[in-house]
Amino acid sequence: MPWKGEKDPYRIWLSEIILQQTRVEQGLDYYHRFIERFPTVGDLAAAPDTAVFKLWEGLGYYSRCRNLLATARYIATERKGVFPNTYEEIKALKGIGPYTAAAISSFAYNLPHAVVDGNVFRVLSRIFGIAKPIDSTEGKKYFTQLADELLDKKQPGLYNQAIMDFGAIVCKPALPLCSSCVFNSQCEAYRQGKVNEWPVKEKKISIRKRWFYYLVMEYKGTIAIRQRMGKDIWNQLYEFPVIETSAEQEATHILTQAEKQDWLLPKKYIKVSVSPLFKQQLSHQLIAGQFITVQLDKKPTIKDTVWLTAKEMTDYPFPKFINQFLEGNKAQQSLF
Ligand code: SF4
Repeated sequence: MPWKGEKDPYRIWLSEIILQQTRVEQGLDYYHRFIERFPTVGDLAAAPDTAVFKLWEGLGYYSRCRNLLATARYIATERKGVFPNTYEEIKALKGIGPYTAAAISSFAYNLPHAVVDGNVFRVLSRIFGIAKPIDSTEGKKYFTQLADELLDKKQPGLYNQAIMDFGAIVCKPALPLCSSCVFNSQCEAYRQGKVNEWPVKEKKISIRKRWFYYLVMEYKGTIAIRQRMGKDIWNQLYEFPVIETSAEQEATHILTQAEKQDWLLPKKYIKVSVSPLFKQQLSHQLIAGQFITVQLDKKPTIKDTVWLTAKEMTDYPFPKFINQFLEGNKAQQSLF
């Protein structure tokens, strides 16, 4: 892990934010690219939004990137580039919760705050036989208190890294190494044959299904894109004009809708192609959709769009859903 032995709070913070909800193998590349491009918090704060989102592209959970930028700019301007050095001040920063604050304050400043992440929940629930749901308010409070009691106050950084490593390497979510585990004579889960049942979660995630139909409008070698705004997924990333529906639709229906919105002028365009169905599973949403490419005789006026060549588009950050389509087109050497 990049924060192993690291004392620079900027680097620890960056790696923690990048590695949240991301596989380590995937996140490490991003971390190294960020550090190379933005070696200090001041460099990150001074970067344009589009450059930072472009570097983040593909990592998902874009609110992390927005908060990263907001916090970097706050530290650069309000704190003269100096990272705070108390748990409370660190936790007050945008996008930093109790876990990240505990990680930064214990790794960088050796402050006595226990980290409670997925690894710690799993290790404690199994060894101590705790069946309280880890996603309930009561469960979170209980596990946090227990983690604080167990923390080695003299070496909090080392202790936190050890318990997280133990959860990642020995007491893994699936196929933990129980037979060679140093705790197997005390572990309640092992004794009771409940290793696969703990930790317990109470809530089932409900998945919302959404259909995105993108209009890829070509006009004299340029394509219309615009920035997503508002409180929704992929905020601040770019996309083609989209018609969202709650159920699957035929391309002809979408084209009619686009005409009604004056995005397409009747008889002033031809349908070039309709892509296969694309899907992307997010944590609480399933996005499905298609890309309908049309060639225009006349450029329509569509609010907030810019018309770019394929080369110019490469500077803009797009969600993975759109990049899958762009990659496919590049391979076929069509317009992109
Ligand atoms: Fe985890 Fe198995 Fe060790 Fe218990 S015995 S702590 S379940 S690895």
